[in-house]
Amino acid sequence: MTIYETIKAAISVKQAAKHYGLNVNRNGMVCCPFHNDRHPSLKLNEDYFYCFGCGAKGDVIDLVARLFDLSSYEAAQKLAADFGIDPKPPTAVAMVKPKRPYIRQFREDEMLCFRVLTDYLHLLEDWKVRYAPKTPEEALDDRFVEACQMIDYIEYLADYLTFADEEEGFEVVKSMKETGYLEDLKYLSGSRDEEDVYAEEAKAA
Ligand SMILES: [Zn+2]
Repeated sequence: MTIYETIKAAISVKQAAKHYGLNVNRNGMVCCPFHNDRHPSLKLNEDYFYCFGCGAKGDVIDLVARLFDLSSYEAAQKLAADFGIDPKPPTAVAMVKPKRPYIRQFREDEMLCFRVLTDYLHLLEDWKVRYAPKTPEEALDDRFVEACQMIDYIEYLADYLTFADEEEGFEVVKSMKETGYLEDLKYLSGSRDEEDVYAEEAKAA
């Protein structure tokens, strides 16, 4: 075992957080020490932490390294000393790389989801007014129909994402991405050249 493995096996993220004075609530959440956090948004799991506010993530060593501005090795040494663990000589030091790129990707995806939803919603709201039939006899404009069909659902999704707690948000974003719905929305909310698209569709029909 490397010193990192020894430490991680011996001390949970939650234990370390408590030991260093973070106020852990019963859901295992704390106010994030890495951003200006007024409501607890950093989740402590057994072997890693994750902040839904700023995306900070890592294992117990990363937590301590960031809390005290230490290198991974210094953090491991500190944990060993503070918890009375005898670290083995670090002959085979394996650096622990936190999976930050993944979390950064999630934050980007979340912002993108929210942006395409609101863009599309604004477009639909505009269409619903602009292309509404002026008389009962008038044939319905495709854009008006699309607006009527989609607006409630898109509004619901945008609201849901706005008010979802962080884990729900995470699930929505994940599923929007995996099902390809995000790509669809990107197209729908994008700068479709309205006249061209409908002309193309008319030609294809
Ligand atoms: Zn944070």
